[in-house]
Amino acid sequence: MKKLIIPLMIFASFISEAQIFQKHLMRKANRIHKKIFTVDTHADVPINMMEMEGFDVGKKHNYAEDGTQIDFPRMKEGGMDAMFFAVYLAQGKRTQEGDAEAKEKALAIFNKIHEAVKANAEQATLVRTAKEAYRNHKNGKIGVFIGMENGWPIGKDLSNLTLYYDLGLRYITLAHSYNNDLSDSSGDPEGEEHGGLSDLGKQAVAEMNRLGIMVDVSHLSDKAFYDVIKESKTPVIASHSSCRAICDVKRNMTDEMIKALAANGGVIHINFVADFLKKPSNEVAISIKTIRMQTMKADILPEDKKKLNQELRQIKYKYPEDVPTVKDVVNHIEHVVQIVGINHVGIGMDMDGGSDVLGIEDVSKIKQVTIELLRRGYSKKSIKKIWGRNTMRVLEEVTTYAQKMRKR
Ligand SMILES: [Zn+2]
Repeated sequence: MKKLIIPLMIFASFISEAQIFQKHLMRKANRIHKKIFTVDTHADVPINMMEMEGFDVGKKHNYAEDGTQIDFPRMKEGGMDAMFFAVYLAQGKRTQEGDAEAKEKALAIFNKIHEAVKANAEQATLVRTAKEAYRNHKNGKIGVFIGMENGWPIGKDLSNLTLYYDLGLRYITLAHSYNNDLSDSSGDPEGEEHGGLSDLGKQAVAEMNRLGIMVDVSHLSDKAFYDVIKESKTPVIASHSSCRAICDVKRNMTDEMIKALAANGGVIHINFVADFLKKPSNEVAISIKTIRMQTMKADILPEDKKKLNQELRQIKYKYPEDVPTVKDVVNHIEHVVQIVGINHVGIGMDMDGGSDVLGIEDVSKIKQVTIELLRRGYSKKSIKKIWGRNTMRVLEEVTTYAQKMRKR
């Protein structure tokens, strides 16, 4: 009997030590989140605001019940101080009518975001600059930035950029999963069309530089990425992309691309979509891709999309070893740090747009990332950079450049 008791005691003391360490890290993470400003660069909650019957971003929801990942109360709970709400449009027809429809839809999403912020003024504020975001955070409020995913609503008329800028827009992902008039996409099944950015795309980058809108290279083809680096006078972001060296998919960035982005002062924000973090087995990958492409069709009905998304989740639960954890997330963060240092990595979880990490089911759970960073020895200063300071540095540079251009 004694022979058994001693190893058991050692085992028990080992468990409690691990638990104590975990609690210590949790407390430390809580303290850090009370002090630092955190921002996520890609939030698809406007999709729920537009399409989900009765969805109110000002009220707390339950992921297990409705699959939603973001609302203001859960942001507060998680220590998520600001997010870029995405004005997202799946690529549709690139005709005059198509472009007009895209513009109308985009304006409706802007309007929805503005209304939601107004209706919840005690919780959240629309922010447009780093200064505004920091001040707002000091006042204890959540910051709502606006980004646009897919430049389709610009159509062929670059004066639309001023219109959207005035509505608060501070970044544009030039293309989504299909090529558009501005740029080639990494996802278009037809392959490249412009061989990178189109001439209009190059002009759009110059105009975005002039106005103070960040250029977002996520979703773009590799050639389009290098074109943006060449054309942009200010640092650019990848609002939600991970590392291709760890997970070899075209949506992710190669080491060479990350180095070029960093050399230009930019920031890559790690995406929490499962198959961009950890390569699923082939059969799963094929079914995921087929379903995801279907969900991205412009004319898809909300109820069909919901069904497809449920199907997506079910595929993953059938293959639990394919579902990434916070360790996979931090592996991507660390990879960027290893190749270009601490100043060029941030977080763009893609919540409500496919984000799927075990244990970080919704925005209230984001401290798990901080805990894992602490466990791996990252300092508070480094965590502050990853969770927002780096992103705000790019926004500051972009804003300052535009102010200087205007004074000329
Ligand atoms: Zn996306």
